[in-house]
Order: sequence, then C-alpha cells, then structure tokens
Amino acid sequence: MPGHLVYYFGSGQAEGGKELKALLGSKGANLAEMTRLGIPVPPGFTITTEACLHYHRERELPEGLLQEVHSALQRLEGETGKSFGLRSGDPRGKGGGEGAVPLLVSVRSGAAISMPGMMDTILNLGINDRTAEALAQSTGNARFAYDSYRRFVQMYGEVVLRIPAARFEERLHARKEARGVAEDNALDADDLRALVVEFKELAARETGVLFPEDPEAQLRGAIEAVFRSWDNDRAIAYRRVHGIPDDLGTGVTVMAMVYGNLGEDSGTGVAFTRDPGSGENRLYGEFLSNAQGEDVVAGIRDPLPIDEMATRFPAAYQELELLRDRLERHYREMQDVEFTIERGNLYLLQTRTGKRTAAAAVRIAVELVAEGLIDEAEAVRRVAPDELNRLLHRQVDPAAEVRVLATGLPASPGAAAGRVVFDPAEAVTRGGRGEAVVLVRRETSPDDFEAMVAARAILTTRGGMTSHAAVVARGMGKCCIVGASSIRIDEAAGWFRGGDEVVRAGDWITLDGGDGRVLLGEAPTVEPEPSAEFHRLMDWADKFRRLGVRANADTPADATRARSFGAEGIGLCRTEHMFFEGERLAVFRELILAPDAGLRERALEKLLPMQRSDFEAIFRAMAGLPVTIRLLDPPLHEFLPRSAEEVRQLAEAVGVDEPTLEREVERHRELNPMLGHRGVRVGISHPEITAMQVRAIFEAVVTVMRDGVAVHPEIMVPLVGAVEELRRQRSLIAEVADEVMARSGLQVPYLIGTMIELPRAALMAGAIAAEADFFSFGTNDLTQTTYGISRDDAGNFLPRYLEEGIFADDPFQVLDQEGVGRLVEIATREGRAAAPELKVGICGEHGGEPRSVEFFHRIGLDYVSCSPYRVPVARLAAAQAALRDRRPPVRDRAVETRVARAGVGQPQPAQRRPAAAPVK
Ligand code: ADP
Ligand code: MG
Ligand code: MG
Repeated sequence: MPGHLVYYFGSGQAEGGKELKALLGSKGANLAEMTRLGIPVPPGFTITTEACLHYHRERELPEGLLQEVHSALQRLEGETGKSFGLRSGDPRGKGGGEGAVPLLVSVRSGAAISMPGMMDTILNLGINDRTAEALAQSTGNARFAYDSYRRFVQMYGEVVLRIPAARFEERLHARKEARGVAEDNALDADDLRALVVEFKELAARETGVLFPEDPEAQLRGAIEAVFRSWDNDRAIAYRRVHGIPDDLGTGVTVMAMVYGNLGEDSGTGVAFTRDPGSGENRLYGEFLSNAQGEDVVAGIRDPLPIDEMATRFPAAYQELELLRDRLERHYREMQDVEFTIERGNLYLLQTRTGKRTAAAAVRIAVELVAEGLIDEAEAVRRVAPDELNRLLHRQVDPAAEVRVLATGLPASPGAAAGRVVFDPAEAVTRGGRGEAVVLVRRETSPDDFEAMVAARAILTTRGGMTSHAAVVARGMGKCCIVGASSIRIDEAAGWFRGGDEVVRAGDWITLDGGDGRVLLGEAPTVEPEPSAEFHRLMDWADKFRRLGVRANADTPADATRARSFGAEGIGLCRTEHMFFEGERLAVFRELILAPDAGLRERALEKLLPMQRSDFEAIFRAMAGLPVTIRLLDPPLHEFLPRSAEEVRQLAEAVGVDEPTLEREVERHRELNPMLGHRGVRVGISHPEITAMQVRAIFEAVVTVMRDGVAVHPEIMVPLVGAVEELRRQRSLIAEVADEVMARSGLQVPYLIGTMIELPRAALMAGAIAAEADFFSFGTNDLTQTTYGISRDDAGNFLPRYLEEGIFADDPFQVLDQEGVGRLVEIATREGRAAAPELKVGICGEHGGEPRSVEFFHRIGLDYVSCSPYRVPVARLAAAQAALRDRRPPVRDRAVETRVARAGVGQPQPAQRRPAAAPVK
C-alpha cells in the first residue's frame, strides 16, 4: 500500500517512475524508473514534493510523514539486511546484535526540473561512534569507516547546522599538513578518527548543542534541511535565471549508501551517454578510484578519463557500456549518469537528460533519427531554437589556443576583441576614434549607454540575464557577458584579476558572448560553418513549418548571408543607411535644407544613381525571391547638421548665409523625433523623395531583369496611421513605377503595402487594407507606440521592471502577446476580412524570438522576418509551433504546463563546454 508522502523503490520494483517527476522530483522519479528497468540502483524511497510544499506553507512537517519514513526505513533494512542505528534489542533487520551491519543512507534533493548542485545532499547518514566501529568491523576497513564518518560530520555540519565549510576545511588541511600529505585519501584511520572528534567538537561549539548521534534525529534534521534548501539563495537565483517556477518544491530521496571509498577496487564517477561537447556517440566522462560523492567534480584529485576505467575496472566498464545503450534505448535521449563502483560492482545513482552544447544538441538529435530511436518531428522538437543563435554567430575560433580568465553569463552572442576600458567617458572617446575597446564594469547603468554604443563588447562582473548591461547589449545586438563573478575588479585603479592573471586598462581581451568565456589577449574569431547535421535538421524543420521566414537585410552582404541561412526573401530592407553614409549625408542635407527648387533637384539627381546601385546589388543577391523595400523612415531631425562647422559647410554648399541656414535647421529640430516628422509624413511633405526612391527601385528592377534575374519588388510605406496617407503615396508610387516600366518596355508585377506600427493603423486595418497589398507589422515601433516607451531610453527603468517582475519579459525581445499581440491579431483579422488576398507578415526583432514566432504562427500570419542570424532560429521555432498543434497528450501534465508557462520547455543549454570537468 503506497504511502502518499513516501514512494519506495527496490528489488526491481518501484512505486511510480519517470511519469511522476512533478511529485517525486526528476531524481527520485528516474531512480524509480531505473529500478523498474532492473538497472542496479541501491534501494530507497522518495518523499514527495508535496511534503516539501506543505513544509514551506505550514513551517512544519506534514502529519504522518515521519511514520511513513519509519516504515520505509524498516522495509529498506529488510531488503539490505542492514540495520539503521544498530540499537540493541532493535527488532528491525538484523538488529543490533554481534556482527550486524549498519545501514547508512544518503539524503538527496531533486525538483521536477533538475537544478544541479543548487540544493543539498548528505551522505553516510546513520553513522555515529557505534555504527562507525561496526562498519569498520564488517568491512574490515577502519580507514573507510572513519573516512565516511568524517565526511558525514562535515556535510551534516555544513548543510543542517549551517557551519561554514571553511571551518572544516581548515582543520582537514591542518591535519594533512601535520602528516605531510597532499591528498585526503593519504590520511589513515587514526587521522580520520581524530578529525571526527575535532569536527564534532567544532559543531558543538558553533551550535551550543552536542552533535546528534541518534540516526533518526539525524535523518529528520537532514530531511528538513533539504526541504529548506529549496529556498536557499543560490537555488532561488538559479530558478530566476532559468525561469523555473518557485512552486515546484523538491523531493527528498533517502537511499542505501554504496561505497566508492572502500579502497582501490572502488570508485565513483559521472558519465554521459554521448560526448556533450561534440555530440559524438561514445561514452564520455570521468571517474576517481577510492572516492565518494562529489569528489570527481570538487577537484580534490584529478579525475581520470572514462576510457581508463576499461583497464582498471573492466567488468564495471563493460556493464556501463551496456547500460549506456539500455538507457538511451529506454529514454530515447542522451543521458547524464552518476555511478559508483563498490568492490568492483557498478551502481547507478542518477540519470537525467544530459546538458550539451548547441552543436552537440543538433548532432545528437539527427543521429538519434538515423538510429531509429526518434522520428524527424521529435528531432525538430529536441533542439531549443534559441541555442542555434550560438551556433551561427561569430565565435572564438575553436581551434585557437586561448587563456580563459573567467566565465560569465552569455547575455548577448557574438565575439569581439578590444582593449580593456573601465572608464565610460574614455570608452566614448576612444571608441569614437574607431579604436576597438571592451567596456569592463562591475555593472552598467543608464549613464553608460553611450559608452556601450562605442564599445565592441561589454563585460560586467555582476548582474544576471536581465541586468541593464544584458538588456541594452541585446537590444543593440552587441556581444556581452554579464555576471562574471570570479573576476575581481578595481575600476579606480584600472585593473582586474581573472584566474591568475591581472589585466590592466589598455590590455587586450576577447569576449565570446556565445558561451560566456572571457579570454586574455586578442583571440581569433570565425564565422561558424554550420554542420551537415545542422542543414539536415533545418530541412526537416522546413517540412513541418507553415510560417514563411524572411530576413531583415539592408546590404547585399546581409542578403547573401540571409539566403545561406534559408531566408525565403527579404521582409525588410531599410533604406536610411543609404543616406547616412559619408558623402550621401551631405547631399541629403542639401535636399531637405536647400532654399530653392533647383538645388533640391540637383541633390535628388545625385542621390538617384547611388540608391539605384544599392538596390541592384540587393536584387541580384536575392534573385528570384521577394524583396520588401521600406521607403525612408527616420525623422528628418536625425539628418540635421550637428556642429557649427557642419552648419557652415552646408550654408556654403547651398549658398545661403549661416544665420538663415541656422534658422532653417532650428525649424526642423524636434522634441520627440520618434513621434515627429518621419515615415510616411516625410513622403507626404517631400513627395519628391518618395518619387526618387521609387524611380531608383524600378530602374534597378529593369536593369537586373534585363540580365535575366527574376525580381519581386514589394514597396513598403512606413508609419501610416490614416488610410489617406497610404492612398496618396500609393498613387504616387504606382505612377512612377508604371512610368519607368513603360519606358523600358518591361512589365514586372510588384506589391505596395504598409507597415503597421501605430495602434491607430492596427485599429483602422480594415480601411487601410483597401489600399494595401500587404501588411508588415513593425513590432519594434508598435511596441514603443503601444506602450508609449522609447526603446532607446528604456534602459533607465526596464531592468528594474524585469527584476521586480512588473514585466515578465523585455517587450522589445519577447512580444507582449496580450497587448501588442492583440493589436496584431485585430489588424490581421480585420485586414483580411476587407481584403482576403492581403499578405501579412512581421518584421520586428520578435520575428526571430521563439515564443513570439509561435504566437505569429497561431494567429496565422504568412511570414516572419528577422535578422539574418536569427533566420534558422525562426525556421526551427516555426516548425516547433506547427508540431505543437498536433502534439499527443503528455502524461505528466503538471510539470509540462508549469514548465511551458515558465517558458523552459526545452532542455537547458549547457553553459559551457565541459572540457576538464563535465557539467555537473
Ligand atoms: P546533486 O543533485 O547536487 O548532484 P546528488 O543528490 O546527486 O546531488 O548527490 C551528490 C553526490 O552524492 C553524487 O555524486 C551522488 O552520486 C552521490 N550519492 C548520492 N547518494 C549516494 C548513495 N546512496 N551512495 C553513494 N553515493 C551517493
Ligand atoms: Mg547529482
Ligand atoms: Mg518603424
């Protein structure tokens, strides 16, 4: 009869299995699952997450829990033939008689979503002076018994009694020094026995009470401590970073110990069923002989690569190879396992989905299909779209020899090198001169905005993925690493320390925003070459998705890259950069500020051929695919001369005196340029600019067509709010286009449409659709105008909003579905009702953000358009959205929905490549 707070596993049977992750935590559920599969797992039981939630709610253990634990312990004693506590006259198990073997257990934590190392574990519980002696006798190994005892007092002291780890470490260290040995396992039984005494005295002094000898009291203390560890600072921080809900609670697994520290024929290790770095299908991992628990990852001794196990523990190695296959066939996924070898016998102590690099994720998914374990749809589901980001951005050359100074959170991908600058003002000056600088700060504030613009990359030692630096850098698409907390920085003195290196202002460093590594010197960076597996996965994604994917590209180079990433067209080609560059800016200023028509005409004539050649190059790069060109959008304000010197030059060029020109410039200055003279409004007040742009576009079309290149131009009018604006521009566009084509004798079908980026436009969509062949939602501006937030200034308050949970996400990264999304939905519906043929897409940042893409899929848009690097992300996200529509019901609903709500449905990406130590 299963107790409802305690679930037992042992002897090939278990109450529950992997379907009970929400209730037992993933560790407990998978231990039960492995037991059922007949995999060697020490027996034990798991206390439910509900008991943990009850404990946090009521501040006490649920009624009946201790009785259930007690019965489960009795069952465990029966099964192992050992006795918990060895009390004399104890009727349980073999009792406390002569020759009895004490039962020691581990007490482990585990939530539904694994949070490695975040909560606490206690090993060897149940040990005291009596049981330690019995353990020494039953194993004939006193050293082992007191090693286990020493470890227990230390762990219990740290976790339950909250004594700082350093107090124990100091004493351990002193003892090693006194004996002239370097490693823990060189201490003998007497040393360890003495340490136990010292540790217990230390604990008594620190807490004012004697160290608990009674195993049942120890167990109760440990269970409560594990429950409490759900809410320790690092667990809370981890959940925040990974978007894990706070109301899952942790399970507590109590299981019989197996001993890897029994001697050289024992050991412990961790293994992955495939290489988590490359994805290669081979056993990967590390182990240590005569060791216990976390020794492998704690860096106490150098672990050995798993291959060496083959010679030292041939039988256990063989079995591990077999289990690797068993587990993969059962879970149909790469696993990360913990194992212990006790006197040559192998036991598994944990299995879970293994974390992996993005490259490995892709390779594993594709190879699992080839091996017949999963189908193509499942492979497409397996890779988190966001991870592809890392695969596609510029990164530090993997072949380069590098020196890692620190690893922080990869806040914004890309890789860049530069000289270290601590002072924001200096970053502005030097960056402005074109020098490569990397801004290094403890954290950034809105005052640092300009410095961030001027820097190639940004590094902070504090802050998380939603800190100011992270939010602003992502917004600018600039490489950024935050929270590199191991770096000690002295901004005033102008140096920082990372690892053993001291780096001074002016020294070169390189940041890899894909994996968060901070490197010394100028490391070579490369454009990654996507693997064959990557292309295979993308082809599968294309089979499933319904949403089209285009790219935002302004230059032929971007267009070519977008194409190579699988873009099916350009959804947004901005034309303003074509006016900002060098000589063109001067000409454009003449155009808007010259006093007489003749001069303006001359300026237009100079701009026309420049524009034409820009368009030609883009059309050629996108041969055969649609290209949406947006007419000039930015505020005229932005083109005004900035200095007295520029005013002087311009006055001379247009032949007026400086005061007159100055007055003209003043007339154009605006207080809120974002809401000012921009977009279609410029086209209305300067129809000659629209006409010139359209002429350039169609002359380019004609030239390129004559070379046999197919072109599908789509002209897009920005910032329309009233249908009349579009009507007028449309007739002007059609007139010029038709005239150019008539003269050439060629006929090219083309579309005229508008961006929907003002709430009014969204609400008037029905009327506007009558004048438009297509809508493209400019969700960046639509978010700004719907919220009334200027994205460029949001750095002043947005990080706080995110930290305090006022906004769940940065609305410029993740579409605000309820508000902005609602406008998109309304406009799509009403636009299509008025004009069933209307093509509808979106071209904001959100077009490459997976959750937003899913939304656009759901409301039935025709396509999304995003930056070239994000095209594969969008293709994969669109495929997953389409697959989710037909996803079969899942049994473990509770976790599924909570996880989905928190947006962590995918395996979490490995934060860094496990080079020496595997990710734990
Ligand atoms: P975490 O969740 O931090 O990985 P675990 O609960 O997995 O913590 O335990 C920490 C270490 O202790 C692991 O290396 C695990 O293999 C080891 N361990 C846990 N229970 C036992 C046991 N019953 N016998 C031997 N080693 C154990
Ligand atoms: Mg573990
Ligand atoms: Mg806009």
